[in-house]
Amino acid sequence: MTADTHCPYCALQCGMTVGAAGEVAPREFPTNRGGLCQKGWTAGSLLSHPDRLSAPLLGGRPVTWETALAHVTSSIREIQDSHGPDSVAVFGGGGLTNEKAYLLGRFARVALRTSQIDYNGRFCMSSAAAAGNRAFGLDRGLPFPVTDLDDAEVVVLAGANVAETMPPLMGHLGSARLVVVDPRRTPTAERAVASGGLHLQPVPGTDLVLALGMLHAAVESGAVDTAYLGARTSGFDDAWRLATQWWPERAERVCGVAAADMRTVVSWLAGSSRRYVLTARGAEQHAHGVDTVTAWINLSLALGLPGTAGSGFGTITGQGNGQGGREHGQKADQLPGYRRIDDPVARAHVAAVWGVDPASIPGAGRSAVELIDAIGTPGGPRALLVFGSNLRVSAPDAARVASKLDALDLLVVADFLPGETAGRADVVLPVAQWAEEEGTLTNLEGRVLRRRRALDPPPGVRTDLDVVADLAAGLGCGGFPTTPRAVFDELRAASAGGPADYSGITYDRLDAGEALHWPCPSTDHPGTPRLFLDRFAHPDGRARLVPVDHVPAAELPDDAYPLRATTGRVLVHYQSGAQTRRVDELALVEPDAFVEIHPDTAARAGLADGVWARVESRRGSVLARVRLVLSARPDTVFLPFHFADDRAANLLTNPALDPVSRMPEFKVAAVRIHPVSGD
Ligand code: SF4
Repeated sequence: MTADTHCPYCALQCGMTVGAAGEVAPREFPTNRGGLCQKGWTAGSLLSHPDRLSAPLLGGRPVTWETALAHVTSSIREIQDSHGPDSVAVFGGGGLTNEKAYLLGRFARVALRTSQIDYNGRFCMSSAAAAGNRAFGLDRGLPFPVTDLDDAEVVVLAGANVAETMPPLMGHLGSARLVVVDPRRTPTAERAVASGGLHLQPVPGTDLVLALGMLHAAVESGAVDTAYLGARTSGFDDAWRLATQWWPERAERVCGVAAADMRTVVSWLAGSSRRYVLTARGAEQHAHGVDTVTAWINLSLALGLPGTAGSGFGTITGQGNGQGGREHGQKADQLPGYRRIDDPVARAHVAAVWGVDPASIPGAGRSAVELIDAIGTPGGPRALLVFGSNLRVSAPDAARVASKLDALDLLVVADFLPGETAGRADVVLPVAQWAEEEGTLTNLEGRVLRRRRALDPPPGVRTDLDVVADLAAGLGCGGFPTTPRAVFDELRAASAGGPADYSGITYDRLDAGEALHWPCPSTDHPGTPRLFLDRFAHPDGRARLVPVDHVPAAELPDDAYPLRATTGRVLVHYQSGAQTRRVDELALVEPDAFVEIHPDTAARAGLADGVWARVESRRGSVLARVRLVLSARPDTVFLPFHFADDRAANLLTNPALDPVSRMPEFKVAAVRIHPVSGD
């Protein structure tokens, strides 16, 4: 048995064929054109990994499924009887299929009757999503196919290191002059310089000022597209009123990027007819991430990019189903179809699909960090069910997260490997992996893809859909669909008429090879690969420039913690590393945590290349091996966030939240660094 499916990791969703023994071969698909990165090539090894979970665990001991599920449902009943519906919470993930994300949302609201559900996409795409909704009236990461980038002349990548996070995407940027905005000299930044472009290296947390300085440069040079602004947008005057104080030389003093470079990039954008601005986590993971993305959108609108054939603005989704994962109801404030949970029309529509009274659907719950933070407080969650997330490594201020999870009355984790969160759970439920299951995911371009089964799951393992339906039935709420096709058909009905309308997308159409991007409102609709070409999604059809101004990072360096730490990914690891750290070929390349630091900064701290250092913030400390990097900013250190225990970079990070998206500030923390005694 072989199956044409897609990589289990990132949102590029490279096409691959998987054989019955889990062997992987690249497959021609528009996003990867037959290429795979090291993560994709080695993804099959996890299917038969010796660490694979194969039986439910209760208190660390193997038990039957009946025993495990009965324990979970009876514990939930007991806790809710004493403390109310919201005492039980659900945490999902951006790697879950559309079907799982949808069913998890229904399970929380209908079977558990709790408002407390959120997911790890809150740590990933929430700022970009909020900024996109605010500016365009709709959030779809890339509102155009990746292949549109093939013809680009200029591409600005703001906080995106795609050469490491999704290498095949670089193949679409081959003819473009690249501008990379990143405090680090990443491989993507190297490519930018080699392409005749620029690497802009701002102080972490000041990207918004850089974008404002570039908007100022656009106005002063006459590069603003006034005809486009007049015909397709509103709000320029208000946005400009705040940007007027950020002339490039003043912006340079804050962000550290030369004013001349700002003017050069604006002239490149203004002087080409095929140009794109793309943001990613570097712009988004801030306590003012929504405003930072907004500043890049404002610049793009001023230059006339969004909704223009051959040009555009987009955000590069990270997790495999980071797009679909935020559309189907596992987000605290949303219902399927990307509908707002406080919209009475949306509630009535979804309630009819679920066969419940609209009034019985709870309102918005807490966002991810706030949900975890509420554990152990009056009215906070006492039980947590986690699907597809490794919170102990991936959430900010990880030591506090660990103490919160340890304070729960009940922690249930559904996973296929004993990640750090599963390792401390009361109940572990072993579930099937990507190549063992059917379903759909939605990639970074809003294209819905089929995940197909190549081999059977090991004995003793169930699918997440079966687990959710069994738990619902155990709570007296039977009738949940369990086959992926049946769940997807229900999702289609629930999404009908919503912003992310999947009602015209069917398994049969996808299996026939149709390329279907949402919205797709009927089965004879061709889907929508390009959005906004005629109008934006606000009722007046116009995009909105929103006035934004610089706000310093929530925590700035001082005498006690004089450096800025920023975090990110490396080529061979993915997210919390629970999977890729177990792949020998990948672990050999990057076996352990490291900290990138400028040689002068290291020398002042008494550190040499290759020694172990301790990096400390106000929240915790980590061990990391020193890597001297001449191109590093002297005021900044970088740590990858793929490692666990005393190497977990998120022990340092700041849980300060964006006021709109509730995104934590992963990208800036004040730290100090010193040698490990005895090293
Ligand atoms: Fe492609 Fe991303 Fe998988 Fe690499 S990790 S093979 S870029 S989908």
